[in-house]
Amino acid sequence: MTQEKKKIDHAPMVYFNVQGSDLVIDNRTMSQIACIAGQTPFYVYDRRVILDKIRLFRAHIPKRIHLHYAMKANPHPALVSFVAEHVEGLDIASQGELPVALATKTHPEDISFAGPGKTEREIKAAIAAGIILNIESLTELDRALRIGTELGLSPQLAVRVNPDFELKSSGMKMGGGPKQFGIDAEIVPQVIKQIAASNATFVGLHIFSGSQNLKPEAIIDAHNKTFALAERLVKESGCSLQKLNIGGGFGIPYFPGESHLDLQPIGENLERLIQQYDAVFSKTELIIELGRYLVGECGLYVSSIVDKKVSRDHTFLITDGGLHHHLSNSGNFGQVIRKNYPVVIANRMGATTTENVSVVGPLCTPLDILADKMTLPVAEIGDLIAVYQSGAYGKSASPARFLSHPDVVELFL
Ligand SMILES: *Cc1c(COP(=O)(O)O)cnc(C)c1O
Repeated sequence: MTQEKKKIDHAPMVYFNVQGSDLVIDNRTMSQIACIAGQTPFYVYDRRVILDKIRLFRAHIPKRIHLHYAMKANPHPALVSFVAEHVEGLDIASQGELPVALATKTHPEDISFAGPGKTEREIKAAIAAGIILNIESLTELDRALRIGTELGLSPQLAVRVNPDFELKSSGMKMGGGPKQFGIDAEIVPQVIKQIAASNATFVGLHIFSGSQNLKPEAIIDAHNKTFALAERLVKESGCSLQKLNIGGGFGIPYFPGESHLDLQPIGENLERLIQQYDAVFSKTELIIELGRYLVGECGLYVSSIVDKKVSRDHTFLITDGGLHHHLSNSGNFGQVIRKNYPVVIANRMGATTTENVSVVGPLCTPLDILADKMTLPVAEIGDLIAVYQSGAYGKSASPARFLSHPDVVELFL
């Protein structure tokens, strides 16, 4: 008996068009876009895709929930300004992201700052700017209260909670158990009381439990537990919330066998939670913060084939781009087993003569892989390799200095 091996494919990449044999953005082929960039490699971000993702969010998630953009996913200033026009707030993760956030139309009270190990300088910057500081430790609380007094300003403080649960099936867990993020839920009521009795303003809670999740039931479970925990903390502290940030964690499909996240059941459950907890949170601004889900699919990373060689029957396409620009595509940014992102030859879309190849970068390390043993159209030197799903954790998450190759260019179209 022969068993047919089922081929597992990437989810259909629905956000970019093809004209003839060319992958296009707004009727421009990738080689035209390479002319605009002035070089390969480049990242190109398509604003229309971001709008589609925001529309999808609005179509399924209740209006009561405000949407924030987590800037660390992609801090490119033009992109951040554009996203800021279409969401209710921004979340930053360092002082370096603050000027970009302040340059947008977002009001300081809709900008929040999360992340462990905030320095005196960072806390000073946040208080002076009037943004919300998400307090992640008792040391940070002491620093914020003291710096507020020194500056003669009332710090706007939210407490980031390290919940007593985890986001199941999450790409990266960021809550539950011992963590460097947030203050353990057990001591949060006492911290809230301390803030309420100080010169600072207690703004609310931030409960972020994980990232890159594609399972609606896991996200629903985390939302149920988040609302229950927030209610408990309100009751135990006796303080109401101006804002409750319930985190995010919505994922996008990267690897074969993954599919797009279905927001409908998540939205229906949130509607139910809003009703159920109306007595506690009717005056609270409810927030979901997303990075990757909003911008991950808008970006392509495009490089040129510099060499094509065969080594012991295996064909290698060697490009001018690699892990120094796109670490996460190489599999070295939190993956346990390396899997291929969706990769195409941007000027040979739909070609039927194919070969099995590995696409590699120019760095002297076997880690520099763009696509390993993938079936692609037969390609030539000078062809363009495009990596989909490259709008988040790309340039800013990569070791640009490693091997001293030229910098990547970013285009926002
Ligand atoms: C990184 C981060 C995010 C964004 O995560 P995505 O997976 O990109 O949506 C949101 N909130 C906090 C606190 C983060 O640290």
